[in-house]
Amino acid sequence: MADLMSMTQKELVQAVEAMGEKKFRAGQLYDWFHKKGIWDYEKMQNLSLKLRQKLQQEYPLPDCKEVKRLVSQIDGTTKFLFELWDGNVIESVWMKYKHGNSVCISSQVGCRMGCRFCASTLDGLVRNLTASEMLMQVYAIQQLTEERVSNVVVMGTGEPFDNFDNLMHFLTILTSPEGLNISQRNITVSTCGLVPRIREFADAKMAVTLAISLHAPSDAMRQELMPVAKSYTIQEILDACRYFVEQTGRRVTFEYSLVKGQNDSVEHAAMLAELLKGLLCHVNLIPVNPIKERDYRQSETASIEKFKNMLEKNHINVTIRREMGRDISAACGQLRRDYRQGGTQ
Ligand code: SAH
Repeated sequence: MADLMSMTQKELVQAVEAMGEKKFRAGQLYDWFHKKGIWDYEKMQNLSLKLRQKLQQEYPLPDCKEVKRLVSQIDGTTKFLFELWDGNVIESVWMKYKHGNSVCISSQVGCRMGCRFCASTLDGLVRNLTASEMLMQVYAIQQLTEERVSNVVVMGTGEPFDNFDNLMHFLTILTSPEGLNISQRNITVSTCGLVPRIREFADAKMAVTLAISLHAPSDAMRQELMPVAKSYTIQEILDACRYFVEQTGRRVTFEYSLVKGQNDSVEHAAMLAELLKGLLCHVNLIPVNPIKERDYRQSETASIEKFKNMLEKNHINVTIRREMGRDISAACGQLRRDYRQGGTQ
């Protein structure tokens, strides 16, 4: 049974009515959870003590407590470590940009996708996060920083499309006018490429940006970096992306982490350009971020520039992702399941 904070407005009305309570109580609860960011029944002063006790008994709420904060000396990026009700610890990142504040949230405790260069998957998957646990990361950061969050990226620990139903609940609630009302256009969901879920996501016709972690211009090379590439070919992923563009009219972002000597030559760039020809898309190049368990090195600046120029020559939109918070292990692929294992010390 889902907790009340993970429910859409419609589901919450049903749950409240099933408890024998009046419908308007659902509106009050939704307002406390998603407008005010409160997940403690005791603080909900417009509910009677009796109702608060009943709610506590029938629908205990999850939790998301700050246990550690790391601030980057380089760019002010902040990594928050949150402890959940069951003792699991997750990481979320807060980034300040000129155009507004962005939060990168985790969607699972751990991850089972096994990408070779990524720290989040080293210990496998522990469990999915509920929609409320994804929301709480945003609400908590907004309260702790006392600043409004305008952008949310689902690019922290976990594979969001491996937790699809909870992700969709999260997105529905986060963008609802009665909640935080974040614009769909200001949200990005990143996936390693689970093809059936890409199609399902396209069918939801949300104006959310879809980012695909591609990282290689051939299936053979992709398989060396990402085990999921054995389940879905690049062509299958691109077909699903074309379907997404058809359904939503939105361009797809391809993330490509450059690993020195592995996927970063001009020939690789030419292969990538050939693959993406005619697709409404944008490529985001990420110099791979080192993790201590693996020996992947960042490409030289000159090779990154050459790679970028080759794509541009082929009329592909491309940017190099600015690295944020590397000194606190807050950059892409550096988030971990549990800081007590030494990841962020
Ligand atoms: N599971 C999702 C989202 C999480 S990771 C996905 O795979 O897209 C967000 C991005 O960081 C992905 O593109 C991922 O492949 C990339 N990434 C992971 N480890 C990295 C590393 N060490 N350096 C650079 N990018 C990395």
